[in-house]
Amino acid sequence: MDINLLLNLKENYAWPRPDRCPGCNHFKVWGHGFAYCCFDFSTDPIPIKRYRCPNCGCVIRLRPEGYFNRFQASIDTIRKCIDSIVTTGKAIKGICRQRQYHWFAALKKRAVALFGLGADLKQAFESLIAEGVIPVSRAI
Ligand SMILES: [Zn+2]
Repeated sequence: MDINLLLNLKENYAWPRPDRCPGCNHFKVWGHGFAYCCFDFSTDPIPIKRYRCPNCGCVIRLRPEGYFNRFQASIDTIRKCIDSIVTTGKAIKGICRQRQYHWFAALKKRAVALFGLGADLKQAFESLIAEGVIPVSRAI
């Protein structure tokens, strides 16, 4: 995934077409326009390719590699912020503090629910990603 190429080509960027529908495993999905999303790497919204499954009707939205669905900041950035708050109790400078504590609170809630009080939050962050869960998402 080349972010700079995406920034240059915008709608013309050659997104990969999913082989199958992740919902029903149908063999073919169709292009379904773009969703314009904000990311930290750009001041303008970026067109993100969407696909639609003709069988079950679900819409598949791709996302840049290294980003959680519906998150503007990269996974690396979020990881660094979590790390800082866990280790030093302080948010990282240069990134909105409110957003960082929002991520931290969401992670803590998930970690406690899954692993109990006193869970290792940095470890929980990685475990949740490994399970395909967005660790800092509020929605469960
Ligand atoms: Zn489907």
